[in-house]
Amino acid sequence: MPSNDGVLAAGRAFRVLVIGGSYGGLAAALTLVDLSRGRVPRFSSNPDATPPPHRVPIQITVADERDGYYHLIGSPKALACENFASESWTRFQDIPALKSPNIKFIRGSVSGVDCAAKVAQILETETNSKRAEPYDYLVVGSGLRRVFPTVPRSLRRAEFLEEVKRHADDIRQAREGVVIIGGGAVGVEMAAELKILVPEQKVTLIHSRKRLLSSEPLPDDFAERVETILNEVGVEIILEQRVIETTAVNADGERRTWRLTLSGGQQLVTGHVLSAISRPIPTSTYLSPEALTDDGYVKVHSSLQFSGSVPNSEHHFAVGDLAAWNGIKRCGGAMHMGHYAGNNIYQHILAECGAGKPRFMTLNPFPNVIGLALGHKAVSWTPDEGTRHGEDLLISLFGEDMGNTNFQRVEIICD
Ligand SMILES: Cc1cc2nc3c(=O)[nH]c(=O)nc-3n(C[C@H](O)[C@H](O)[C@H](O)COP(=O)(O)OP(=O)(O)OC[C@H]3O[C@@H](n4cnc5c(N)ncnc54)[C@H](O)[C@@H]3O)c2cc1C
Repeated sequence: MPSNDGVLAAGRAFRVLVIGGSYGGLAAALTLVDLSRGRVPRFSSNPDATPPPHRVPIQITVADERDGYYHLIGSPKALACENFASESWTRFQDIPALKSPNIKFIRGSVSGVDCAAKVAQILETETNSKRAEPYDYLVVGSGLRRVFPTVPRSLRRAEFLEEVKRHADDIRQAREGVVIIGGGAVGVEMAAELKILVPEQKVTLIHSRKRLLSSEPLPDDFAERVETILNEVGVEIILEQRVIETTAVNADGERRTWRLTLSGGQQLVTGHVLSAISRPIPTSTYLSPEALTDDGYVKVHSSLQFSGSVPNSEHHFAVGDLAAWNGIKRCGGAMHMGHYAGNNIYQHILAECGAGKPRFMTLNPFPNVIGLALGHKAVSWTPDEGTRHGEDLLISLFGEDMGNTNFQRVEIICD
């Protein structure tokens, strides 16, 4: 029942549990914060959007294994550059936009979800004990499991900064250069960043296929442009070769070097090896198989509600990389999904409170779009514009800081 000040007399706060405090999860949480304050969500790009007609009390809980928000897309630079690293990880407690009595954080790993009872099991990091967290609505945004050096090993900011220091030292001090294995999106960005950060260091990129980015659904001219830019910055590229053996060698009894044997028989010695070939795996093991595709992504309707045959599916939403949605996985897409999921939860709550039928925002298919930051230049591909590249493009896509300002300061960090 609406009151004079627009607050719906719901009798209690609706509990929303968000698993994963990154682009998708935080976009959902902040959309709910904005709506429950009677504001147009900060992620809305619709100039005609109006504030919600009613306000509803909402209590949001965000569960994450990390102690803060990590700007993943800057990872190739953050892991090798201490100054940049410091800007890339913000503890949840230090994020102004999240300082609200309506949001609490649990640091821990979600290990199970009972959709029928609407309870999640969380292994809390601090106490190393399991807690049951009941909810009315669930948003799963825990993304894909990636390994070092694509992502840091650390789960706390303080440890992350130490980890970066060690990693940056390893790269600087590698006597016979650095080899990166794997010329996918992560490998090419990492190679370019290392060469820009430590120009005197020899950086070699080894890829098993005839062209870089061979598993991306992108045309050859995109991959060729990436190769040209890597050559320009001084990265040495070896294509159509697999590393079949890596042997540790003690060059001077002190610093270790590595001998790599390639499938063509060639051998090369290097001071440091970084693998960028591991396939990311969905983190959805806490959900029942009925909710998932064969490869572990969460099946969703265009409203982002679960579409698998699980109880209370209309109260369960998936966002970001974990959602089974077409198109190249991107943080912009994750935030867009988070915005829609937050809005649709709010609509569902209003309907439950008797304020009419929910008006859901529905997601269109995502086109295959990509933008790569390669040192001082970017390369992008869209279906409309094809391949573009250049220094101006880097600024328009990533700003001066690998998208740090674009993505976190404006929309996620600032209140
Ligand atoms: C190196 C690299 C560069 C990239 N560059 C770009 C780019 O330039 N542009 C672009 O658009 N996209 C880029 N991407 C893709 C983009 O980063 C992802 O699409 C985006 O991070 C997805 O966001 P998400 O919120 O779904 O998940 P994630 O960002 O992966 O976050 C998931 C969160 O869930 C937490 N978590 C995981 N499991 C659990 C659990 N069981 N319990 C509790 N918490 C859990 C994690 O700690 C993490 O905080 C890049 C990706 C990588 C790896």
